[in-house]
Amino acid sequence: MSLLLCTRRRRMSELVRRWREQGLSIGLVPTMGALHEGHASLIRRARRGNDRVVVSIFVNPAQFGPGEDYARYPRALSRDLALCRRCGADAVYHPGVSQVYPEGFSTAVQVSGLSERLEGKFRPGHFRGVATVVLKLLETTRPERAYFGEKDYQQLTLVRRMASDLDLGVAIVGCPTARQPDGLALSSRNAYLSPRERALAPAIHAALVAARGLARGGASPKAVERRARARILASIPQARVDYVELVDARTLRPAERARGRLRLLAAVWLGKTRLIDNIPVFN
Ligand code: AMP
Repeated sequence: MSLLLCTRRRRMSELVRRWREQGLSIGLVPTMGALHEGHASLIRRARRGNDRVVVSIFVNPAQFGPGEDYARYPRALSRDLALCRRCGADAVYHPGVSQVYPEGFSTAVQVSGLSERLEGKFRPGHFRGVATVVLKLLETTRPERAYFGEKDYQQLTLVRRMASDLDLGVAIVGCPTARQPDGLALSSRNAYLSPRERALAPAIHAALVAARGLARGGASPKAVERRARARILASIPQARVDYVELVDARTLRPAERARGRLRLLAAVWLGKTRLIDNIPVFN
């Protein structure tokens, strides 16, 4: 089957309605485009688990704050379509802003608690934008399953909460973080890095892994966080660390002890680029 490109919400809904009538299961992979191997791993996973796969490509203005990189966020539609085709997607939903937010649009989804911590503290309103657009994308495409990367661990947790709270009847599937061989998590924003910054960036993941060793040895959460932060700053003196936090993997509340299912998350500025990463600590 060839790849279908839908830019209109009605057309997308109509296409999935026909698939559903034929008894076909649908998997959705929501993205903002500038696709890389991380996205490809989600699409391939969706391909294995569903009869039809829809990839949405939408740079969502509602999840960018004033002064953030909405305008310069990388856009590469023809390369993205080629990647979707290679990974076996059936359709790409690529709506314009007015398809998603028509004039007069005034509703927002707020997932309380989870939205205000970590990323939410540094990017106020970000998760309201994420939850609102994800709900709209789920409503348009009505998938059985939707695929999200652990790379954006807080987003994955929040979408799971929303799907459960609102009885959306969609399975939220979390997928492992795809990395470069040197450990740097793949991200569309890596394209912003200068060659020098790119060379330094793997130190973030290395610092998380080193600090995880401490946690496994029984160190306190604060000591683990201090070690990760110090190691990042030792490797990248010009870095600015927004946060390094050891949290409960389910609730994202600060870990009280280095025990149980935890996650170590970080957000770090390298020059004008803000990178996030996280790793599991105990499984
Ligand atoms: P984005 O286009 O950055 O909004 O990401 C779209 C989806 O791809 C989200 O669910 C991300 O968590 C996921 N994703 C982004 N980078 C990676 C990666 N390196 N590995 C796995 N999933 C990723």
